[in-house]
Amino acid sequence: MRLVLLGPPGAGKGTQAKWLVERYGIPQLSTGDMLREAVAKGTEVGRQAKAVMERGELVSDAIINAIVEERLAQPDCARGFVLDGFPRTVAQAEALDAMLAARGQKLDAVIELRVDVEALVERIAGRFACAKCGAGYHDRFKRPKVEGVCDVCGSTEFTRRKDDNPEAVRTRLQAYEAQTAPLLPYYRARGLLRTVDGMAPIEAVTAAIGRVLAEIGG
Ligand code: AMP
Repeated sequence: MRLVLLGPPGAGKGTQAKWLVERYGIPQLSTGDMLREAVAKGTEVGRQAKAVMERGELVSDAIINAIVEERLAQPDCARGFVLDGFPRTVAQAEALDAMLAARGQKLDAVIELRVDVEALVERIAGRFACAKCGAGYHDRFKRPKVEGVCDVCGSTEFTRRKDDNPEAVRTRLQAYEAQTAPLLPYYRARGLLRTVDGMAPIEAVTAAIGRVLAEIGG
């Protein structure tokens, strides 16, 4: 299964990607996670991306395409993948098509999580994650079962993303509208776009994605 999850920041791409990873045994390729790792490690890419990310702007296509190309060559991608946060521009979508074509592969589906942009600021501003295992939580929508303790690994340390502040969130939403939304007609024209209601509860969104994938034989 080769999938792309498309939607603005806060739409639930990461949450749903984690379910797809378990369901299909394919890796989640999150360019945001890869970049945050590069920043944390202080690599050359990390140094170039850090300030851009903190402002909520997009990192250059050249940097991102190179990261993805390298990742797609890893053996765990042979059976498929779920892309989360890539492509984000038409140039990236074209580069992805070329990378896959070079391998004799193509995408199975692009799943759009359609959400109400007004609701996103609240969703994003409330989110945090386990510092140890990365499990995602939310101040209002998904608190740990035991206050201050990660449900998954028991850690008591949590982190919040630097770009989850109101100003960077606004810039990220603008970047989505201007640069990423044009991917909707791009994939619609190729017969790949499937839209699900991303405002529904997490489990209902998962179920809707499951139905979409069943339709295409997944
Ligand atoms: P995300 O975790 O997907 O919200 O990504 C966090 C930040 O990383 C974005 O706001 C961008 O600055 C950068 N980023 C991640 N993926 C991409 C991409 N495909 N193209 C450009 N910038 C990206």
